[in-house]
Amino acid sequence: MMVPAAFRNEPFRDFSTDGARREMSEALRAVGGELGREFPLWIDGQPVRGAKTFRSMNPSQSDQVVAVLHQAGREEVEAAVRAAGRAYESWRWVPAEEKSALLMRAAHLLRSRRMRAAAWMCYEVGKNWAEADGDVAEAIDFIEYNAREVLRYAQGRPLPPYDGEMSEYTYIPIGVVAVISPWNFPLAIPTGMAIGAIAAGNTVVMKPASDSAAVAFQTLEALTEAGLPPGVLNVVPGPGGVVGEGLATHPGVRMIAFTGSREVGTHLFELAAKTPPGQTWLKRIIAELGGKNAIIVDDEADLDEAVAGLVASGYGYQGQKCSAGSRVVATPKVYGRIADALVERVRRLEVGPAPENYPAGPVINASAAQKIMEYIEIGKGEGRLAAGGGRARDGGHYIAPTVFLDVAPDARIAQEEIFGPVVAAIPARTFDDALRIANGTAFGLTGSVYSRNPEKLAKARREVMCGNLYLNRKCTGAMVGTHPFGGFNMSGTDSKAGGPDYLLNFLQPKVVAHKYR
Ligand code: NAP
Repeated sequence: MMVPAAFRNEPFRDFSTDGARREMSEALRAVGGELGREFPLWIDGQPVRGAKTFRSMNPSQSDQVVAVLHQAGREEVEAAVRAAGRAYESWRWVPAEEKSALLMRAAHLLRSRRMRAAAWMCYEVGKNWAEADGDVAEAIDFIEYNAREVLRYAQGRPLPPYDGEMSEYTYIPIGVVAVISPWNFPLAIPTGMAIGAIAAGNTVVMKPASDSAAVAFQTLEALTEAGLPPGVLNVVPGPGGVVGEGLATHPGVRMIAFTGSREVGTHLFELAAKTPPGQTWLKRIIAELGGKNAIIVDDEADLDEAVAGLVASGYGYQGQKCSAGSRVVATPKVYGRIADALVERVRRLEVGPAPENYPAGPVINASAAQKIMEYIEIGKGEGRLAAGGGRARDGGHYIAPTVFLDVAPDARIAQEEIFGPVVAAIPARTFDDALRIANGTAFGLTGSVYSRNPEKLAKARREVMCGNLYLNRKCTGAMVGTHPFGGFNMSGTDSKAGGPDYLLNFLQPKVVAHKYR
């Protein structure tokens, strides 16, 4: 059996070097020349024109069309599910080594065009260069990681012998998987979910988010060029309520792999529980949802490190990460100093167009900007506005990085996911009080604790209830392999993407016991 080298994370590009800056500028120029390009649907290995089209727009320059997407309707959803169902009958039997080698080729192809993929992201979703590069690197990691996992799962599990019998425990695929993804990691997340399904031997109908549908085609291109058979991955952009819901309720779909908001995720959970006529299985669902992540800064913390972590976690990609540190919880001796340093650093964040690589870019679209502004108005009644608090500039969806101080733990801006550059600082009475505040929301995705006291860190390790807890580091930037990712409670089903249990979500174990004569 082919044994690939051990998995290693794709290194990030260093944009302080002339070479990387030049490459990115060239990619932005080249992709800039393609803006407005049409993307047909992709069904059964063929481009398909939809009856309607829709546009994705550049959030940094809101009148600029990035891509024209063909839109799926009921008919195309039906065709895609059928194509995936047919392809499943052969893809399910493809040996693990073959699937693994194909995924390795796809990772290589995506790597060879990583700047181009990142450039599409700068235009379509407003990521600056490092954020876009990180997203592509994570997508490559998901492919490479699962290309190895497929070989491991193919070995099955040993079972204790029973007299006169041979028993085997194998993992087999389950069928057609609907992949429904958000716009904020427009390459890494749809790639991660689709590759999980495909590596396990399933076939996929992917519905990318409408704001970021062009980026998702980068993975399709790499997989198709690597030799993925027709029908194994179908891509059908279109409105969530029509295409996403059409897939989620389809009797031919065996599983829903969703990442997105709590609101849509809980709705899909309900839909998945129904068994429409003709459906002969219980639909499986993984749903990775939002967060209201807390960063605790203790009296005994290294304050410089803590403030750097707060800024990176709270304002990286404008706070539009499920893992964003949107609550700062500090104990009495350091609260004032942390608040002052945070406000000072946040006021200095320069806001501007993502393709020009400003540290703070736009939020995704006009309705997100509107929703964030509404939360800022709510915040004015719940805390002390100390930085930002309004629109930052014209031409795109720019919101000034915002800090609210002295917020109560149960305030709306301390409980609800805002998904923008808005952080609430909450004073805690003691370290134990800080732990209680951190655990005091319906979510449980990520969290950080800064302290030099080993006993407090040990307590936090036990008591902070979130899927990904970080000690003395920021709460964003999970690495495939090292930080398998997924949340507790209303943050989702904790599927731990990029970890050793992830493929299990897409497999079913089968036991065969063979009695000797
Ligand atoms: P969203 O509004 O829930 O949308 C996610 C996907 O669901 C999109 O493709 C959307 O399509 C589709 N959709 C919308 N309504 C639907 C319906 N009724 N039935 C089926 N599908 C439907 O989330 P988003 O704004 O794209 O993403 C931001 C959210 O994702 C945040 O809450 C963030 O925390 C969460 N997130 C979580 C993780 C994690 O790993 N836990 C990672 C990233 C993001 P349209 O685009 O066409 O509306």
